[in-house]
Amino acid sequence: MDLKQNIENNPTIFGKILRGEIPADKVYEDELILSFRDIQPKAKIHVLVIPKKRIVDLREAKPEDAEILGHLMAKIPEIAAKAGLTAGGFRLVANNGDHAGQEVPHLHYHLLGGEELQKL
Ligand code: 5GP
Repeated sequence: MDLKQNIENNPTIFGKILRGEIPADKVYEDELILSFRDIQPKAKIHVLVIPKKRIVDLREAKPEDAEILGHLMAKIPEIAAKAGLTAGGFRLVANNGDHAGQEVPHLHYHLLGGEELQKL
């Protein structure tokens, strides 16, 4: 399945954002990934970063997804800078599955900061 079909068949809320069916406050976009502000921020600054290809969570990632995931990770500093997270630093979190409380079954990384966060 190519990326266009993958996005068309994505039943999650992030699929709707990728298709432009619901708005998102975008921070960064390229051919492989999209970043936008979380609708219910859990810190002063809270953005999400997703691969455009739907990967449910890291347990579902395939060897061929390595390029996408490496690209996503490599872009985090640039996205953090665009979101205003460079000076104080940030937390990077990905909830994977039920025990972690993952709500949206499309892999996403939370970038949190803009204030001092509670220590994990
Ligand atoms: P999870 O709990 O799955 O790790 O995180 C899902 C995140 O997606 C939550 O922080 C939630 O606020 C965010 N979210 C859910 N629906 C929407 C939406 O329609 N737009 C945006 N921008 N964020 C959303």
